[in-house]
Amino acid sequence: MIYLDSNATTRIDPEVVDAMLPFLTEHYANPSSGYKAGRLVKRAVTGARQQVANLLNAEPDEIIFTGCGTESNNAVIQSLWHTPPAGRQVISARSEHSAVIEPLKPWQQDGGRVTWLDVDRHGRIDLAQLESALDDGPTALVTLMWANNETGVLQSIPDIVRLAHDRGVPVHTDAVQACGKLPIDVRQCPVDYLSLSGHKFHAPKGVGALFASRRARLRPWLLGGGQEGGHRSGTENVAGVVALGRAAELMASHLRQGDMARIEALRDRFETGLTRTFPNAEIHAAGAPRLPTTCSVQLPGLDAAGLLILLDQRGVCASAGSACHSAAVHPSHVLEAMGYDAEHAARTLRFSFSRFNTAPEIDQALDHLAAAATIMRREQSRLTS
Ligand code: PLP
Repeated sequence: MIYLDSNATTRIDPEVVDAMLPFLTEHYANPSSGYKAGRLVKRAVTGARQQVANLLNAEPDEIIFTGCGTESNNAVIQSLWHTPPAGRQVISARSEHSAVIEPLKPWQQDGGRVTWLDVDRHGRIDLAQLESALDDGPTALVTLMWANNETGVLQSIPDIVRLAHDRGVPVHTDAVQACGKLPIDVRQCPVDYLSLSGHKFHAPKGVGALFASRRARLRPWLLGGGQEGGHRSGTENVAGVVALGRAAELMASHLRQGDMARIEALRDRFETGLTRTFPNAEIHAAGAPRLPTTCSVQLPGLDAAGLLILLDQRGVCASAGSACHSAAVHPSHVLEAMGYDAEHAARTLRFSFSRFNTAPEIDQALDHLAAAATIMRREQSRLTS
């Protein structure tokens, strides 16, 4: 398998597996138990909280473990909804992940106002439009993603924080795709809330975290035994939390060692090969700051769904620019927000890379893509002749 879909999920790092396994075997005590075995497990949870805090330059008491990035996003939005006065606006963007768009729908249905910022051809918001939205009435929250999952494009979070904080408005960022791939320092870029998800940086699925700064308001969303500072009761997913901590530590160390430059070189090698084979290929957000791990590309005249099937047959995993929901293919709302039509989206593929990819894999994937395109073109001309 050549796995080029790391924005969907990442391979679990073997070192992460090693760290978590003892908590699925011998260290199974409840971290809230007062005896020695429980205290050992509690120490592991405390250590993991420190490791995640270190990745962000946060304090450990600003980290709340959650089940996923979706939960972290929902928790912030619902918390702000319940913070009086009611009816205020939230500012977000049309290109956000559904884990932000969907929880904002009830906000709108229940009488709040959601201002959806437009994005340009690269998928970036216009800071002047943000400014005028902020000046257009009391605002409870600005929620904008750090990096887009489909194109990798980055929003300018430091500028967004500055504009919002000048007006006393808190900022949440969905950093699920950015975390572990870019240096994030919540002291230098003082967001109020930040969501992250373990399975996007080599930890398993089913564990995430929410950073909530000490000054941020946050309403508990799971009531019970008072775990996670009372915000998210429930016995901790200890093995998952330990894995998240170790993955955060590893990502911090790989970032320091310049790993992203190596991944970016692989991505660039892929894009160079791609444009050589497909001279009319359009790489989205190529002229904007974007994640070093992502290539979203439109291949004129080639149906992405068909190409993905042919790639799958050759062991290459990638994804399309349109998402399948209950058998109906919807054009990507992200590409739509960027001004592209449904046909363009249907010709878009996303390849996303991680440090487990190698240069020979990139070259093989390019060969497979060229072969798949040849088959598709041959089939298309047979059908039209
Ligand atoms: N936000 C972004 C930008 C994502 O890419 C994803 C997952 O694809 C999520 C949120 C949801 O994260 P999770 O799968 O951990 O719920």
